[in-house]
Amino acid sequence: MDYEAFFRSQIDGLRREGRYRVFADLERRVGEFPIASYYPSPDEPPRDVTVWCSNDYLGQGQNPVVLAAMREALAKSGAGAGGTRNISGTNHYHVLLERELADLHRKEAALLFTSGYISNEASLSTLPKLLPNCVVFSDALNHASMIEGIRHSGAEKHIFRHNDPEHLDQLLSRYPADRPKLVAFESVYSMDGDIAPIAEICDVADKHGAMTYLDEVHAVGMYGRRGAGVAERDGVLDRLTVIEGTLGKAFGLMGGYITGSAALVDCVRSFASSFIFTTSIAPVIAAGAAASVRYLKEHDELRVLHQERAATLKRLLTEAGLPVMPSVSHIVPVLVGDPRLCKQASDDLLTKHDIYVQPINYPTVPRGTERLRITPTPFHDDHHMARLVDALLDVWSRLELRKAA
Ligand SMILES: *Cc1c(COP(=O)(O)O)cnc(C)c1O
Repeated sequence: MDYEAFFRSQIDGLRREGRYRVFADLERRVGEFPIASYYPSPDEPPRDVTVWCSNDYLGQGQNPVVLAAMREALAKSGAGAGGTRNISGTNHYHVLLERELADLHRKEAALLFTSGYISNEASLSTLPKLLPNCVVFSDALNHASMIEGIRHSGAEKHIFRHNDPEHLDQLLSRYPADRPKLVAFESVYSMDGDIAPIAEICDVADKHGAMTYLDEVHAVGMYGRRGAGVAERDGVLDRLTVIEGTLGKAFGLMGGYITGSAALVDCVRSFASSFIFTTSIAPVIAAGAAASVRYLKEHDELRVLHQERAATLKRLLTEAGLPVMPSVSHIVPVLVGDPRLCKQASDDLLTKHDIYVQPINYPTVPRGTERLRITPTPFHDDHHMARLVDALLDVWSRLELRKAA
């Protein structure tokens, strides 16, 4: 077989569909977020661009308090962790961070992973595998990492309609009360910006004796009085069996975690391959994350400002007649509805307006709903917003894109 020709043809297919992924080569600059240097190619000089699609939602990636904690840990403990958690790779920084996270979500215990992806994959493959004859109920729009985890568990699985507790109730009703069940869902869905009815889903789960597993990746740091997420905002932290989060988005670093009861967390710690057989996160990362979590527990004003910025941007885009998709969170999706045009709109924003918004195409979102996913932060001021609206209007008229209905 001509392997090279095969690989090239696969890539050509993606290009034809307009969904070949091109990474923007950026250099972030401390103190200047959301401005960054953009390298059109490795050999060309960089240009300043305004980043409008970062998941560093609160700018914690440059918070001086976080950076100071990381510098101190680097000086004290050096670069890497030096092993898996079991074999010399548990540093005091990991232990302190797990305590900080358990406290954040008001749970007995927390467990760190190398990413949020791995935390979902590891936990959702291990828990249903351990529980005898477990059935998993998964929201239709769950993240790829949850889907992969559930698949690896080998458990029987049912998909309930997105954010639909009644459909979940119907599916759960088909199973006897004593059969182990797990309901997996997210709080903030990051592509549409909608939010799950957590209390209602917990009501249904309780009625049928099911465990609940909530991914709060796009909510931790940003919702609730101490930044524990939407479950904290809604006053239902204690109703969830497992709360999962990331250190890579609002907390500004990298890594993931779960929180739950001591016995449950101990089971994942003891049985999950992708937790056991991998080097733990670097002490500098753990130290920075602990500082970031602590900081956000005490700075509710940053969350208030974040929500105000998101509401202001939605209003400005709506007033300009741009097709903002309905969102009740900090995420601001603008519909394009075609993969090639979506890529072209993003390219034009970058080359003609020095504005960076990555196109979101299939399979991340359904075909026909290709969009620009805009993420305002407390660091995007009125001037940044006015420039963005003007640039979008220019691109919309050049490409003759659909405006709001
Ligand atoms: C980004 C994301 C993850 C993965 O988190 P990482 O820390 O980036 O690996 C998990 N779940 C959802 C819903 C996400 O959007």
